[in-house]
Amino acid sequence: MDFTKVSENLKARGYTVQCFSTAREAADYLDGAIDGRTVAFGGSVTLDQLGLYERLGTHNRVLWHQRQGTGGDGRPDPRKEGLAADVYLTSVNALTEDGELLNIDRTGNRLASILYGPGKVCFVVGRNKLCPTYEAALHRARNVAAPQNVRRLGARTPCAAGELRCHDCKSPDRICRGLTVLWGPMLGREAEVVLIDEDLGY
Ligand code: SF4
Repeated sequence: MDFTKVSENLKARGYTVQCFSTAREAADYLDGAIDGRTVAFGGSVTLDQLGLYERLGTHNRVLWHQRQGTGGDGRPDPRKEGLAADVYLTSVNALTEDGELLNIDRTGNRLASILYGPGKVCFVVGRNKLCPTYEAALHRARNVAAPQNVRRLGARTPCAAGELRCHDCKSPDRICRGLTVLWGPMLGREAEVVLIDEDLGY
C-alpha cells in the first residue's frame, strides 16, 4: 500500500511518521527506539500481534491491563499508572487519508492516555485501518472495529453475533461510550504514527 499521501498529511498535522512493510520491522524499530522507560499499553490486538509487551518488557517497565489485570486486592491498576508513563502505545480504530485518528472506548483509559498524561503517544496502525474519508472511518470504527472488540471482550450486546454491524445498542455492556477524533497531536505531546503495510488488529 502507498502510504505517501497519509504520511504527508500526518506530518503536516504535527506527527512524526514511520512506515514499515511488515509488523516485524515495526516491532524491531519500536524495540530499538524505546529503552529504559515506563511504557503503558492501550487495549489493542495490534500491539499483541507485534509482541511488543514481551519485547519491550525485557528493557523497559511495561504496564498493560491485558496482561496484568486491572488491579484490586492491593495491586495497582496499570491503566491508572499508565497515565503517568513516559510512553503510551496504542492503535486506532480508524485513520483517514487526511490524517484524522479515530478511537472508540469503553472505560476511557485509552482515550484519557491519548489525550493527556504520558509524554509521548505512539499509534501503531495496520493498513486495514486506513479509510478514504471521515465518514468511512467513523463507519469502520462503529461497524467493523467495535463489534469485533465486543466478541474479543465477551460483552453481551446485539453485535456480539451475526454480521458485523453496530445496532447502536443501549445495553449495559455497550463498549462504545466515547469517541475521540484527533485532528493532530494534543498540545505539548510528542506523537508518532507507525504505519505498517499489513492487516493488523480490528
Ligand atoms: S454501540 Fe452497542 S451494538 Fe453498536 S458496536 Fe457498540 S456495543 Fe455493539
